[in-house]
Amino acid sequence: MGQVPGKARAVVIGGGVSGCSVAYHLAKAGWTDVVLLERKQLTSGTTWHAAGLIGQLRGSANMTRLAKYSADLYVKLEAETGVATGMRQVGSISVALTEHRREELLRQATVARIFGVDVAEISPSQVKEMYPHLNVSDVVGAVHLPLDGQCDPANIAMALAKGARMRGAQIFEHTKVIGVRQAGGRVTGVDYVSAEGEPGFIAADVVVNCGGMWGRDLAAQSGVTLPLHACEHFYLITEPVEGLGHLPVLRVPDECAYYKSDAGKMMIGAFEPKAKPWGMEGIREDFMFDTLPEDWDHFMPILENAMNRMPLFQTSGIHTFFNGPESFTPDDRYYLGEAPELRGYWIAAGYNSVGIAGSGGAGMALASWITEGEPPFDLWEVDIRRAQPFQRNRAYLKERVSETLGLLYADHFPYRQVVTSRGVRRSPLHAHLEARGAVFGEVAGWERANWFAKPGQEREYRYGWKRQNWFGNQRDEHLAVRNGVGLFDMTSFGKIRVEGRDAMAFLNRVCSAEMDVPVGRIVYTMILNERGGIEADLTVTRLSETAFLLVVPGATLQRNLALLRRALGEEFAVITDVTAGEAVLCVMGPKARDLMRAVSPDDFSNAAHPFGMAREVEVGMGLARAHRVTYVGELGWELYVSTDQAAHVFEALEEAGAGLGLTLCGLHTLDSCRIEKAYRHWGHDITDEDHVLEAGLGFSVSKRKASFVGREAVLRKAEAGLSRRMVQFRMEDPDVMLFHNEAIVRDGKIVGPVTSGNYGHFLGGAVGMGYVPCVGEGEAEVLASTYEIEVAGVRHRAVASLVPMHDPKSERVRA
Ligand SMILES: Cc1cc2nc3c(=O)[nH]c(=O)nc-3n(C[C@H](O)[C@H](O)[C@H](O)COP(=O)(O)OP(=O)(O)OC[C@H]3O[C@@H](n4cnc5c(N)ncnc54)[C@H](O)[C@@H]3O)c2cc1C
Repeated sequence: MGQVPGKARAVVIGGGVSGCSVAYHLAKAGWTDVVLLERKQLTSGTTWHAAGLIGQLRGSANMTRLAKYSADLYVKLEAETGVATGMRQVGSISVALTEHRREELLRQATVARIFGVDVAEISPSQVKEMYPHLNVSDVVGAVHLPLDGQCDPANIAMALAKGARMRGAQIFEHTKVIGVRQAGGRVTGVDYVSAEGEPGFIAADVVVNCGGMWGRDLAAQSGVTLPLHACEHFYLITEPVEGLGHLPVLRVPDECAYYKSDAGKMMIGAFEPKAKPWGMEGIREDFMFDTLPEDWDHFMPILENAMNRMPLFQTSGIHTFFNGPESFTPDDRYYLGEAPELRGYWIAAGYNSVGIAGSGGAGMALASWITEGEPPFDLWEVDIRRAQPFQRNRAYLKERVSETLGLLYADHFPYRQVVTSRGVRRSPLHAHLEARGAVFGEVAGWERANWFAKPGQEREYRYGWKRQNWFGNQRDEHLAVRNGVGLFDMTSFGKIRVEGRDAMAFLNRVCSAEMDVPVGRIVYTMILNERGGIEADLTVTRLSETAFLLVVPGATLQRNLALLRRALGEEFAVITDVTAGEAVLCVMGPKARDLMRAVSPDDFSNAAHPFGMAREVEVGMGLARAHRVTYVGELGWELYVSTDQAAHVFEALEEAGAGLGLTLCGLHTLDSCRIEKAYRHWGHDITDEDHVLEAGLGFSVSKRKASFVGREAVLRKAEAGLSRRMVQFRMEDPDVMLFHNEAIVRDGKIVGPVTSGNYGHFLGGAVGMGYVPCVGEGEAEVLASTYEIEVAGVRHRAVASLVPMHDPKSERVRA
């Protein structure tokens, strides 16, 4: 090791597989001036003891893309660096012991196929042929991925480190970062203690926290939220088993277990339903290549199943019982990206036990993001900006990760809700809704009524891949919105106030639509990036000459705040999160006007209160700001009510609505209604990689404004023509369900994933949306094709439309 330099373009903290991959990919992108600092030795945290499974089957399109990138990279790494990575494409088999699981595996296989991953369904007897040691008597289905593999995790990291060094990166072991310095909201470098115990400083504009389970506390020192917590993770290795041979990796998620054969021994690892959080008192300073104590009682249920599943476990001796810590996150997804709190502070951590399989792709994606200033494709699923400040709370994390470890191998049913660490963020109407049958789900910590149980009905989800137990409740709520009037509590909307002398000029620069509108006007707009991709979609309401209210989804609030704060230049404007100040009650449906008239003396006619306007109204004995907008495609008002008056306004609406059949509605109904109307949902249908014109949202882009972010990309696309279009689909067979990530099949060929899906109770079948390639084609040609949607390997006919199937001319909305 040479001398630690005083300056670098980027400093990577942590020499596990994550840090090594980030350094490798930055170096590969031409950043020769990269320094990686590791407090002990490379791989000595979690990486050295990983099981080394490299799987490509993931629940979503872009996660599959990243996993495939890792697998492809690791195959080539040995030839490139000369480090033996142990990477062998032994293939993998995932078996299902239930029909539910079989459906999930087949759905994942469809997602994998969209990205060209080699995957096939195989029968139990084929499983037995490939895996003679396995008891397949109760196996109901399986998938095989011939190019999945297994590797030596430490050597993957070492190979990445060598590849980084070969391109000029410098790596220093026994060099601990003790702080990240900042000035003016930007990182300026890191303080470290060298191998010799000497303090030092490296000036750098880019710092990447790849600190694994140390990452949270390291980030907290800099005011950065990185919610992760370590859990104990177990595996066991047998003594050599005669005639074991080379076997594919095997996953039996219904028994929480994975198996790997290596050097004649068999390994079994576990994702047990209730995990053991670890490190609550902090991590010992001398932690290096450490293991945690055995816990046979904890592992025994898994081993008992294994003895039945693979009888060789009954006779073979135990060579190793391994227990090591790994970091887990509240939603089982890792974190990538720049911290919203501090410019230049990047993160790649919290890998939830897929860090080896994940780091290759994640390192590539992060390096590209750092270099280009934008992610290479939509990474919202793993974006650090989804983390909520409250999630720093360690009691919350400890309880939640005891669940998330096991969720990795649980059935990933649609609408599945977490059960731990609930109730942190509640609407002021929570108790009211609960008393009226609400069944809650959680998003960004918010408890939200997802559906309302009938009197006497159990208030639990019964999950499945077909119609779930709340299907009928959703239908009743949905039809009430279409035929009568429904009431939604949307308090979880993120609310951002932008005010000041230059607020209008600032918003006009960052938003695609015209912001210089009369006071009271509500504008639906995009925030675009320079590629014309959609960073955010939001409504902006002009409250006064100098104040605007921005309304965004609750889940994207932190991201949107960060976007705005980053975008603010010399303009004088103050950006404040005012989410908690107002509850939001949405009165929606053809009878919405009757209800408003019954609770308020104000005039709700089109003339007095047209669509797209907000104004103060009296409700009961309180006040609200009524926004005439809708996300369900009906006449309606969103009532923004000061939280102290929310309960009163709710009660007034409820009382007045009794005679009108007012129906309480949940978030599932909001979603099914908006899909019928083909309203896009950010994070699903529209993301930063989706061009606003291809998303069919050109109407939200001002034709008159001379300049705003993304304008040139809009003009270029308008000139060049669309290469894909957002299409809405309705299934012909009313029994087929769409949840999203099914495959769109055009004239017999898979062309992309369904970006969102739900049941269109008014249209009479499942409805989905997704992009269809259309280079050189007009609308008529796109619609002339036949369309099917592949669900769990079976193709079903679908009707396609380029205009909303519900209320195409918005006559109901403007009624
Ligand atoms: C039992 C077990 C089995 C697993 N099996 C698999 C598998 O089959 N497939 C798979 O994909 N994943 C698997 N994993 C998960 C995988 O091992 C991890 O996700 C991955 O190693 C995490 O890598 P990392 O670089 O984020 O963290 P680490 O490897 O922990 O690296 C973080 C590094 O940062 C260093 N560091 C921390 N603070 C500082 C500081 N202040 N200054 C300098 N350095 C610092 C630490 O010393 C450490 O070396 C398994 C994990 C376990 C526990």
